[in-house]
Amino acid sequence: MNNTELETLIRTILTEKLENQTETTTAPVSPNQVAIFADVDSAIKAAHDAYHRYHELPLKCRSAILDTLRRELDQDIAYLAEEGVRETGMGNVAHKVLKNRLALEKTPGIEDLTTTALTGDDGMVLFEYSPYGVIGSITPSTNPTETIINNSISMLAAGNAIYFSPHPGAKALSIWLIKRIENLIYKTCGIHNLVVTVSQPSFENTQIMMQHPNIAVLAVTGGPGIVDMALRSGKKTIGAGAGNPPCLVDETAEIVKAAQDVVSGASLDNNIPCIAEKALIVVEQVANDLIAQMIDFGALLIQEPAQVQALKSACLSDGKINKNLIGKSPAAILEAAGIPVPGKEPKLLIVETMQDDPLVMHEQLMPVLPVVRVRDFEQGVTVALEVEGGLHHTAIMHSQNVSRLNKVAQLMQTSIFVKNGPSYAGIGFGAEGFCTFTIATPTGEGTTSARTFCRLRRCTLTNGFSIR
Ligand code: NAD
Repeated sequence: MNNTELETLIRTILTEKLENQTETTTAPVSPNQVAIFADVDSAIKAAHDAYHRYHELPLKCRSAILDTLRRELDQDIAYLAEEGVRETGMGNVAHKVLKNRLALEKTPGIEDLTTTALTGDDGMVLFEYSPYGVIGSITPSTNPTETIINNSISMLAAGNAIYFSPHPGAKALSIWLIKRIENLIYKTCGIHNLVVTVSQPSFENTQIMMQHPNIAVLAVTGGPGIVDMALRSGKKTIGAGAGNPPCLVDETAEIVKAAQDVVSGASLDNNIPCIAEKALIVVEQVANDLIAQMIDFGALLIQEPAQVQALKSACLSDGKINKNLIGKSPAAILEAAGIPVPGKEPKLLIVETMQDDPLVMHEQLMPVLPVVRVRDFEQGVTVALEVEGGLHHTAIMHSQNVSRLNKVAQLMQTSIFVKNGPSYAGIGFGAEGFCTFTIATPTGEGTTSARTFCRLRRCTLTNGFSIR
C-alpha cells in the first residue's frame, strides 16, 4: 500500500467513525422529546409510534398503567387542587380535591370494554371494542386536571395514545400533569409518549392538531365555540359542550333535602362544573320555604332592589356574562358588586328573577343561582325546557311524585338527569355510576368512558363455537 492509498483508507475509516458518532449523539431521546414537544407534528408522531407499541401489549399492561396512575396521582391531588385554583383563578381548593379524587377513583378502566358474542347454528360473531389510535383531547380551564385524569384513564384503558390540547389558561399545571402521567406510564410499561402535548398550548396549536392526519378522533371538552370548530374539521368528534342545567322543585319535594342538595350542587367549585345547577325553578307554593331552608344551608339571598341591580350589573354586561367573575367565590362576587360581605362567608348567592333574565338563560358559571317562581308543575316544566335550551346536557328535579319525575326525565332528553339529589350525583359523586368529566352532549355519546373512545369491531367465525 502506498502513501496515497493509506491516506484514503484512514480518511474512509475516520469518516465512518465520525458519522457513527453523530448518529449516537443524536439518537438518545432528550428530555424535550418526551411528553412535551416543541411542535405539534413531532408530538403527534411520537404519540402515533407509542400507540403502535402499546397495541402490541396485553390488556394486563393497560390495567397495570391505570393502577399506577390511580395510586401515584393520589399523592398529587392537593397540589393539583391548589395550583388549579392559583393558575386559573377559578374554583376552590377543597372542592377541586374532591373532583380530582373522584376522577381518579371512579373513572372505569378496561372492565368497561365488554365483549358481546352471538352464537347460533351458523357459528359465532364477536363484537369488541378496539382503540382508534391517537386521540386529540381538548381540555377546559374549568376542570383542567380532572379532565386530563379522567380522559387519560378512559382513553388509555381503551388502548389509545393521547395528544392533549390543554386550555392556555391552565397550561402550566396541565403540562406538569401530562409530564407526570407520561412518566408513570413509562415506568410501568416502558413506552414513552403515550400522552403528549406541546410546550406552548395555544389556540393555533389546537387548530394544527385538529388537521393532523395522525389524529384519529377529536374529544372536545369545552364551550360551544371549540366544539363547533371540531365538528367542522371533518374528523370524527366526540363533543362535550356547554350546558345550562335547570333544577325544578315541585310542591311534593322533600324541601329540606332539596334545599341542602341545591346549595351543595350549585356551590361546587364555585359553580364551574358544566353539570352544576344554573337556575332554580320552584313551584310558588313551596318557594318561600325552599329559600328559607337554602339560607339555613349557607346561601345568601340578595333581595334589596339596589343590591339585586348591583349584583346583576357585576355579573353581566350588555346581557353577556362577565368573564372576570367566572368561578370566583361568593365573597369576591359580592365585593365586585359593592355589596357588603357578611361575617360568615356564604356558600352561594341566590336572587329571585324573571324567567327571561340573562342570568337564567345563559350559562354563567358563577355561584349565583337565579330563582324563578312558577305557578305550578306544568309551568315549571315549560320553563325548565326553555332554560336547558335543547343542549341535552343536564337537568335536576326534586319531587316525590314518580310519574312527574319520569315525565320530566323523558321530556328533558338530557345526557344526565338527577332525581332528588345534587347535580354532581350525575357524575357518580356520592351516588351510583361511574365518573366522567367529559359529557358528550352535542354529539350524543353522553357520559363518556373507555368504550366511548373505541371503535366497535365485529369478528365472525363460521360453522362453530356454538355449544348450546
Ligand atoms: P373554552 O371553550 O374556552 O375552551 C375549551 C378548550 O377549547 C380550550 O382547550 C381552549 O384552548 C380551546 N379553544 C377555545 N376556543 C378556541 C379557538 N378559537 N381555537 C382553538 N382552541 C380553542 O372552555 P372553558 O372556559 O375552558 O370551559 C368552560 C366551558 O366548557 C363551559 O361552557 C362548560 O360548560 C364547558 N364544559 C363542558 C364539559 C362537558 O363535559 N360537557 C366539561 C367541562 C366544560
